[in-house]
Amino acid sequence: MAAGEIIYLDNNATTQLDPAVVEEMLPFLTKYYGNPSSGYGFAAEARRAVDLARERLAALLGCEPSEIVFTSGGTESNNAVINSALQLEPRAKHVVTSAVEHSAVLRPCQDLTKRGCKVTILGVDRDGNVDLGKLEAAILPETALVSVMWANNETGVLFPVEKIAEICREKGVLFHTDAVQATGKIPMHLRDTAINFLSLSAHKVHGPKGVGALYVNRRTRFRPLLAGGAQENGRRGGTENVASIVGLGKAAERAAEYLSEGKAHVRSMRDRFEKAVLETVSGGAVNGAGAARIPNTSSFSFEGIESPAALLLLDRHRICCSAGSACRTGSQEASHVLRAMDPSGDGARRSLRFSFGRFNTDAQVDRAIEVVPKVIEKLRQISAPACGSAVSPVATAL
Ligand SMILES: *Cc1c(COP(=O)(O)O)cnc(C)c1O
Repeated sequence: MAAGEIIYLDNNATTQLDPAVVEEMLPFLTKYYGNPSSGYGFAAEARRAVDLARERLAALLGCEPSEIVFTSGGTESNNAVINSALQLEPRAKHVVTSAVEHSAVLRPCQDLTKRGCKVTILGVDRDGNVDLGKLEAAILPETALVSVMWANNETGVLFPVEKIAEICREKGVLFHTDAVQATGKIPMHLRDTAINFLSLSAHKVHGPKGVGALYVNRRTRFRPLLAGGAQENGRRGGTENVASIVGLGKAAERAAEYLSEGKAHVRSMRDRFEKAVLETVSGGAVNGAGAARIPNTSSFSFEGIESPAALLLLDRHRICCSAGSACRTGSQEASHVLRAMDPSGDGARRSLRFSFGRFNTDAQVDRAIEVVPKVIEKLRQISAPACGSAVSPVATAL
């Protein structure tokens, strides 16, 4: 690898656009600018492209194309489900979710409490697992929706959402899963599940930012969040973001190919990195090590470091990763996910998340295996400052 090359190990934050995705998008940014809703032949080009994207995404998810609603991303999809469930369910006074959800589920749920709706937030154990008995017990006669993510963005821990969906169906309660981090990383066959709603986002699977989708099971009632034109079969108003939808479709096709060919390069890079780091660095532990995880994510806690200082040093080595913590840009709070897994410990403030993707190379992994232990050692020597403290001795040590 070239000197000074960036080593991007933050694929759970966003991913590189696949060049094949860009290539498919370009004609819809230049030549085929027609509105898919227009009647003339020229616009049919755009309409056909949106239809093809819908088919490709449905193939990845194992559902019907008619069950896909294109949105502006994971955040909109999550908000749309919560909004719909509460509007359509007459008994809707209660929602169940987990403590480790993305803010795009937790925040809209918190807002519900201001509208007189009760929210039960299920805790997790040390490995990040939810207790299915507790989940079942949390469902009340007035419960409108259970929303539990498929894979956690910080730890990669997988929840048994198919089982949870079964429990919800038996209880007659709608089930939604935020599958932004699971889509394209594990096989899915939604038609064999009791999942009512699923959210996904293109930019986490080598597609463009600002586009995503919501799966709405064909037997499940849904009310649009964005009222307007009759686009998306009346389920989402607004002229289709054609080029981005085309990009999402191509990204879905590529992800499906990667999955169906049984390729495991991402998993092997992650596993090799994780093993090497654990072997060379003392006092390191993998968060969620005892749980089932998606194949691309490694979340560590290291004794004797502070995440912000580690990120600063790693950035100097051109390694992009994250704290698995909100201890960045303005916020001083450590990760709510890691705190939920270990409420009494301080692991959340000592954590680093490395997330791999198809465009990483073995040479990059080698380099990360070389640099990360050195950075941890250096931080321990200079005894890092507290999370969020103003003056950093690390900055001078750099
Ligand atoms: C990134 C992410 C989202 C938000 O998706 P956007 O398309 O960026 O709005 C939601 N949930 C999870 C788990 C994510 O990782």
